[in-house]
Amino acid sequence: MNYISTRGGIQPIPFKDAVMMGLASDGGLLLPQSYPAISAEQLEAWRSLSYPELAFEVISRFVDDIPAGDLKSIIDRSYATFTHPEITPVIKQDGVYILELFHGVTLAFKDVALQFLGNLFEYILAERGEKLNIIGATSGDTGSAAIHGVRGKNGITIFILHPHGKTSAVQALQMTSVTDANVHNIAIHGTFDDCQDMVKALFGDLEFKENYSLGAVNSINWARVLAQVVYYLYAWLRVGRESDRPVHFSVPTGNFGDIFAGYVAKRMGLPIGKLLLATNENNILTRFINDGDYSLGEVVATVSPSMDIQIASNFERYLFHLFVDNPDRVKAAFVELKENGRISFTAAEMLSVRDDFCSASVNQAATLETIRNFHAENGYLLDPHTAVGVKAALDLLPADSARICLATAHPAKFSETVEKALGKAAPVPASVRELEGKPTRCEIMDADIEKVRAFLVAHIG
Ligand SMILES: *Cc1c(COP(=O)(O)O)cnc(C)c1O
Repeated sequence: MNYISTRGGIQPIPFKDAVMMGLASDGGLLLPQSYPAISAEQLEAWRSLSYPELAFEVISRFVDDIPAGDLKSIIDRSYATFTHPEITPVIKQDGVYILELFHGVTLAFKDVALQFLGNLFEYILAERGEKLNIIGATSGDTGSAAIHGVRGKNGITIFILHPHGKTSAVQALQMTSVTDANVHNIAIHGTFDDCQDMVKALFGDLEFKENYSLGAVNSINWARVLAQVVYYLYAWLRVGRESDRPVHFSVPTGNFGDIFAGYVAKRMGLPIGKLLLATNENNILTRFINDGDYSLGEVVATVSPSMDIQIASNFERYLFHLFVDNPDRVKAAFVELKENGRISFTAAEMLSVRDDFCSASVNQAATLETIRNFHAENGYLLDPHTAVGVKAALDLLPADSARICLATAHPAKFSETVEKALGKAAPVPASVRELEGKPTRCEIMDADIEKVRAFLVAHIG
């Protein structure tokens, strides 16, 4: 399987090169040249597989430059760190299924992809005798999952910038309590945008980027999307057994990475009814799906901070397919966005969008109410991101269908909000209790790019 760019400016490259390239060198995003099809018989045969076995079957169809035994070992090691034997169990609740994606080390779904990506990086770097310096900005979840994905790994040094005092307490501890020599936390006096701007500026300095082999771990890496495709199949196989009801997925969305993985599963032939794209007040993607209105607004801070995004980086992958794989139409759309702050779509394109997706935006009051009601009715605690998806599913998807809601984080990761919703303290799992009192290491800095650059140069591997 070879990979191409949404902007059409690169020759097809094999999987390992796509992983190391991250963002395509022409500024686009990488996609496989085609999607391997899975037949109904094939799916049926996969019912009895464990999560890592299924992951191997799915992922290996997109990878032809890593020997099967090596790929299997990378996958097995990636999911051995999960604390639930099923890795991503599906829990039946009143009216919905909860797909728990938070049993990895940092209690958010990003571990599913970043454990895999960390092991992949280490494998490819060792084979090529190369080193990689990862630099990233985080509002909390990506940074902690990336740090745990690469801690102690040969050939990799990681620098993560986060806004000082603006992540949840658990998120900060999950990052700063990792004291491995190859991990550097930088807390910036400023906002997430300040962190992001500095990281972008460093990547924009091409000489610096080349000299220090800088790499990124954000959700633009194809390997992250690929790892996430697996749990759509896994969950479908768990609930599909019960009847022939249509199966829908509700996905709390920020950067469009998670839901794009669902779209890939659908393209491969997994019988998915609708992909429900759930947003908070940052609802540009909901306006797009419901009204064809893709116009930029201001980012609003909410109780589901990992979805506080206006420009969803993975959306370009979907646009490429929506525009029938025409890179010129993609480029024109981004020129329009830059000039007018919006992208326009034809009526035929919007029909195609609504064939695959539906969408709802859930505000903060409704999110807190959903956490409270769901707990009262089912005795089950939702994190605020998951609550956005559950509320959207209950409102929009028929009650007699199988409604699978992706639980993207453990409620303990956002205990401040969960406690606000319940009006009382939420239980603290052992893995969170253990964080307190651990030694921490973190560099606190002003939002000054020269200081950040000097720190990188002094500590780069
Ligand atoms: C990252 C994140 C999301 C959004 O996922 P995308 O792939 O960016 O759409 C939702 N919930 C949680 C808890 C997250 O960490």
